[in-house]
Amino acid sequence: MSARRKRIATTSLAGCFGCHMSLLDLDEHLFDLLAKVDFDRSPLNDKKTFTRRCDIGLIEGGCCNEENVRVLREFREHCDVLVAVGQCAITGGVPVMRNSIMHAEDPLRECLEVAYNASKTVQNPQNLIPNDPVLPLLLDKVYTCAQVVKVDYQIPGCPPSAEVFRIALDALIHGAPPQLDHALIRYD
Ligand code: SF4
Repeated sequence: MSARRKRIATTSLAGCFGCHMSLLDLDEHLFDLLAKVDFDRSPLNDKKTFTRRCDIGLIEGGCCNEENVRVLREFREHCDVLVAVGQCAITGGVPVMRNSIMHAEDPLRECLEVAYNASKTVQNPQNLIPNDPVLPLLLDKVYTCAQVVKVDYQIPGCPPSAEVFRIALDALIHGAPPQLDHALIRYD
């Protein structure tokens, strides 16, 4: 009897989609991957909800707003193995720079003031800061995935290379931990 095809879900939280683009850089290896797996919820196929439980969840980006936390918790609930992919998911990446504004009385307010009003390159004569109710509420600071839910594996890189994705996914599909050669994950 042939083995059941694995199901993978992916999402981008506070990320730039660069990790997803790197996954697509698998190029011809995508055919090998698609021979073994089905993608469930993912921006790659525009499925916005889970249709079934998944074997592997790939998370790009950390959590900077309540929507990120909700989605991450959904992935934890629906995926057997959860993988933080890329530096934003693992350490917070570029968005976590706002956590350095800790000295202010209201760090989040100061961050928004700098981003929308105080920056020399901003043209905002009415000093407006977006606060439409449809916008997800920002968290007090940026959190890594592992600070919000249990994460099973981390795949470093900004983004992880297509080769790293290929090796890591091959292992995960076979139920093994990703073993990445040091040369593939050193950046100095
Ligand atoms: Fe983009 Fe790098 Fe963050 Fe991936 S790790 S989402 S490529 S900034």
